[in-house]
Amino acid sequence: MARVYNFSAGPACLPEPVLKKAASELVEYPQAGMSVMEMSHRSKAFEGIITRAEQLLRELMNIPDNYHVLFLQGGASLQFSMVPLNLFGKSKKADFVHTGEWTKKAIPESKRYGTVNIIASSEDKKFSYIPKLDKNTFNPDADFFYICSNNTIEGTRYHTYPDTGEVPLVADMSSHILSEVIDVSKFGVIFAGAQKNIGPAGVTVVIIRNDLVGSALDITPTMLNYATHVKDKSLFNTPPTYSIYMAMLVFEWLKDLGGVAAMESINRTKANLLYGFLDSSDLFKSPVSKEDRSLMNVPFVTGNDELDKKFIAEAGKQGLVQLSGHRSVGGMRASIYNAMPLEGVQKLVDFMKQFEMENKK
Ligand code: PMP
Repeated sequence: MARVYNFSAGPACLPEPVLKKAASELVEYPQAGMSVMEMSHRSKAFEGIITRAEQLLRELMNIPDNYHVLFLQGGASLQFSMVPLNLFGKSKKADFVHTGEWTKKAIPESKRYGTVNIIASSEDKKFSYIPKLDKNTFNPDADFFYICSNNTIEGTRYHTYPDTGEVPLVADMSSHILSEVIDVSKFGVIFAGAQKNIGPAGVTVVIIRNDLVGSALDITPTMLNYATHVKDKSLFNTPPTYSIYMAMLVFEWLKDLGGVAAMESINRTKANLLYGFLDSSDLFKSPVSKEDRSLMNVPFVTGNDELDKKFIAEAGKQGLVQLSGHRSVGGMRASIYNAMPLEGVQKLVDFMKQFEMENKK
């Protein structure tokens, strides 16, 4: 069977050249005589891999020197607990902007250890937009201010980030890290599960400003304390070695392509193609407010459940797969992460046009 265009929200498609490179090194990593999967995490060869992965990520995201880069486990979901356990050092208060399923999951974890103020929410319109924020509502003594910068399920993203002054801004960037240029210095903590734009599942990247490490709550388990992983450079225990190696290959691929700015330009072309069609279509609609649309996750509907099902089934036969919307919202969703080529989006749009012609009301 030929490779399909995989629009999955995650684990998602990986760049084909990366998969081929990994395949060529699967059995014998150069000069090591063994697979990366068989290597000690304390070996020279693996040290080279994790150091290079960090160095490439720093370069790609222009991460300032006063930030640590960590490769952790537990998925982005574990960060919902690690963030409050490590950052509730003073007032034990946090401001949250509630924008969808992933903040819904993060909020209760912070509530276990402190006070959560939901300063804005888009729940009134099924999270179809990013709320406008009023600085006067921010709590100046909060220990952190939390956002999910790209909402994977709802298909929204922040186009500008709140100015939180002295309060560290924490962003769950799981579904759009490395897709557009961002200024890391505006954030206290950035975290992202790997399985969209970084590599296979199993590793979570955390980028944290130095001064935010070291004041975790006393109850914090050793493994959940950022200080543990900073001290041992993500090698306190056995890290997900193969996932880190794959991330290194993805970072190399992205660098060769011209870096994040070049990637952003391709991503904009892909997104414009799809949104442009959605806005001109009589059959398909985007439920997301125009100014808040994600470049990565594009939900769309026909308004008719039966027709949605037919679309998904027929698209699958054309090699356009994983187009179902999240089980909580239904409809369709095309995730067009970094590794989705422009041709994949073009093929999807061509198919949508054809489907519309054949299924006119
Ligand atoms: N946050 C966002 C924005 C996500 O999209 C996801 C996963 N799709 C998560 C958190 C949870 O990630 P994980 O499965 O790695 O815990």
